[in-house]
Amino acid sequence: MEGITTVFIDIDDTLWWFSRNSELALATTFRLMGCDKWCNDYDEFHDHYEHFNHELWQQYNHGLVEKEVLEVRRFEQALVASRYCCDDIDELAEAMNSFYLDQLVKHDKLVPGAVELLQYLHGKGYEINTISNGFKGIQERKLEAGEMNRYITHIVLSEDCGITKPRRGIYDYAMRLCGASPDTIVMIGDDPTTDIPGAHNAGWRTIYLNMRDEPCPIADHTVSSLLEIKKLL
Ligand SMILES: [Mg+2]
Repeated sequence: MEGITTVFIDIDDTLWWFSRNSELALATTFRLMGCDKWCNDYDEFHDHYEHFNHELWQQYNHGLVEKEVLEVRRFEQALVASRYCCDDIDELAEAMNSFYLDQLVKHDKLVPGAVELLQYLHGKGYEINTISNGFKGIQERKLEAGEMNRYITHIVLSEDCGITKPRRGIYDYAMRLCGASPDTIVMIGDDPTTDIPGAHNAGWRTIYLNMRDEPCPIADHTVSSLLEIKKLL
């Protein structure tokens, strides 16, 4: 890709293997918080949680729900759907969320090729930054896995500018921060509804990491593994 000097990379499921790490953290949360005493079907709870979490994140990405509401409501709705009916449901949901977030950052599975790609891009002289809708305090810790943070110049978070991907403002904020012009930037991300359309609208070039077999026709390039990016940059 000609003229690129700056790379922005999404964190969850692009560098840090969120879906794998989250599966492990959720199962531990369920077990260690004693949920198996009233719900004998973890898979059912898990499916409810995934459903509500996904729905709430869609709303969060579009500025329709606050972070604090998302965090508790995903557990609350999963508990209700799994037929939990005690009065302490609010407190339990809050406690489960804190426990889950604590567990989450203890896991460090990375998307295959993450560290190798960062080393490669760094060696080629690209400025590498991350851009994420994930939470402050959590995202920085994820980048400690595999010492990925040593390659990252700016960690841009939606919480820092108050605007989530795919809205244009976060990309403009990121550009101001690194002082690069849009035609010198490429965005790498796994989400065809946030990472790629947002960057495209900001005039950046885009590389879509297609891990779930969902097309993204507006992406400039689509790859199915991170190491394929070495051929493009
Ligand atoms: Mg992602």
